[in-house]
Formats: sequence, structure tokens, C-alpha cells
Amino acid sequence: MQPAGSFFAYPAASEMIALDSGEKPRFWVTIDTEEDFDWDAPFARTGYRLASVPALAECQGYFERAGVHPIYLVDWPIVADDRAAEILGAAQQAKRCEIGAQLHPWVTPPHDEEVNARNSYTGNLPPGLQRAKMTALRDGIRDRFGVQPTAYRAGRYGLGSGTAAMLAELGFRCDTSVRSGFDYRAGHGPDYRDAPLHPWWVKAGQGAVLEVPVTTVFGGLLGRAGRGIYHRVAREGTHAGAALARLGLVERIALTPEGIPAQRACRAIDIAIDLRLPVLNFSFHSPSLQPGNTPYVRSQADLDLFYRWWDVVLGHLARRGIEATTAAGILAMAERKAAR
Ligand SMILES: [Zn+2]
Repeated sequence: MQPAGSFFAYPAASEMIALDSGEKPRFWVTIDTEEDFDWDAPFARTGYRLASVPALAECQGYFERAGVHPIYLVDWPIVADDRAAEILGAAQQAKRCEIGAQLHPWVTPPHDEEVNARNSYTGNLPPGLQRAKMTALRDGIRDRFGVQPTAYRAGRYGLGSGTAAMLAELGFRCDTSVRSGFDYRAGHGPDYRDAPLHPWWVKAGQGAVLEVPVTTVFGGLLGRAGRGIYHRVAREGTHAGAALARLGLVERIALTPEGIPAQRACRAIDIAIDLRLPVLNFSFHSPSLQPGNTPYVRSQADLDLFYRWWDVVLGHLARRGIEATTAAGILAMAERKAAR
């Protein structure tokens, strides 16, 4: 049992943010904006690169032309990089993007913990150290971009039971660290298998923080039962989930260009619309904007495919009448509904 005021105490269906009849879902593009590092190597405080930072300009240009205002969830090494501050600061001042926070604890001061897999989830750190790192990141963003960040994502989706209260205390209004349908327990992380896909308010201290989960849906012949079956089978072995997908029985589809073909993502969009999700929360990692940094974009051809993915997906969203939103837009929508 998780205490109330935690992101792990899931709300009743009636307490989740729902669409009014006739109201359309919106989509939100969230970008984990971070250093380039070897995803297969152990975590390290140093030795990362920032070679993909200039590629943020091309990314921002793409979304501007598409009329989408993404949110860059920036982490400490990005905040410390002059080029990133220039590219993103200019776009943010022109109100063509938003800046939020993403916490990679292993590269964020104060450095008081041992760097290891368990401590790569901020929520596993002692509360005082969590708060200190979150405060450093918030203040770094404030100094660099002149804005108080309202949105937060824990790196590796690493929420803890006390994170909501800390976020509220530090002036954050919105969290997007819950990755519904995923279980990170094998690597000492959280279990989000049963997390809702709808946003919900988490009462924390004097205030409240809106949780906006990263969207992952389950499709396939087994339909809505698929989620439970996926988790029962996937637990037995990592290949079982893939086998279910091959048979067309159950497939887990995250709304991301990383490892998900565009046609499957379009299918996931249709499922999310059928589920009447208020927000379709897309995500990817900024190192994917340059070939060679992530498993998903290895070559220039992969990068071309990455942007074609967005062409296809944005086209599909437009055909379905789904418009882009922002953290500010989502908060306003949720506040409006809470006030009734
Ligand atoms: Zn990250």
C-alpha cells in the first residue's frame, strides 16, 4: 500500500481527468533533453558527451514548421551547456517551446551518493538528497532560462513515494514520470504496470501536482484483456512479449519514434482515441537527434526515418482532428475540470 499523496496511489476511475462529451484529445511532445552516453555501460558521473546538442536546432525548426510546441525536459548537463541555452532559450522566449526539468541523478549535484543502477532512480535516494538535486536542477533552469519550470520528469521514470510533496514544495505543477504499462523492478526501479493512462491530480502537502503519464497502449487480437496477459507472460521471459506481438495477440505500443514503426504508432493513436485519453503523451530522447548515440538512430538514414516518422504520425493526428497542446494547456484543462 502506498500512502496518499504519492504517485503510486492510483486514483479511482471517477477521479481521473476525463474528456467531456464532444471534447477531443490533445497530443503533447515531450523530449528528454540530455547528454549523450553509452546506454549499455554502467552509469558514470563523467565521460558523457554533448555532441547532439546542436541538433536541437533542427528538431525545434521541424516542430515549429509543424505548429507543435514541444517541451524540452532538460537535465543538468544540458542546463550547463551554452549552446543548448542559446537554442532552447531563444525558442522558449519566442513561446515556440516549453522548458521543463528532467533529473538524471548521476550527473546532477550534489554528488553524495554512490553511482550505481539502484541510485540511477532518484526516488531511491535519501529524501534530503533527492530534494537537493531537484532544487539544484530547478534553480539551474531558472538561472539559465529565466523561468520557473512547472513540469518534471524523473530520469528513468524514477519516482519515489515522497516525490509529489517535494515537487509541490519546489513549485512544480505537473509530473510526467509515470510510464504506464512498464515494470522497472528488475533494475531496482518502479512498477507502473497498472498505472492509469489518464492524467490525475496528486494531493501533496498544501498543493497538488498533476500527473500526466507517458502514453503506452496495448493492442492486438486480445484487446483490452491484453495488458494483463502481456504482463503475466512477459514476466516469464523477455522474448515472450515479442512472441505475443508476432502472433498479433497482444502488442505493447509506446508513443515514441524510438523503436516503434510509424504504422504501429498510428494504430496506437487510434487505440488511445478509442480509450478517450485526454492527452496523448509522446516522448523521445534528444541524443536520438544525432546518428550514433542511441540504439534507435544509428545512421543518417535512421535520422531521416526519424523525421519521416513524425511526418506520418503528425499527418495521422491531423486527420483524426487531434491538435497539439503544451504543459500550460494541459494544466489549464485539468484546472478547469477540477473547478467544476
Ligand atoms: Zn533521461
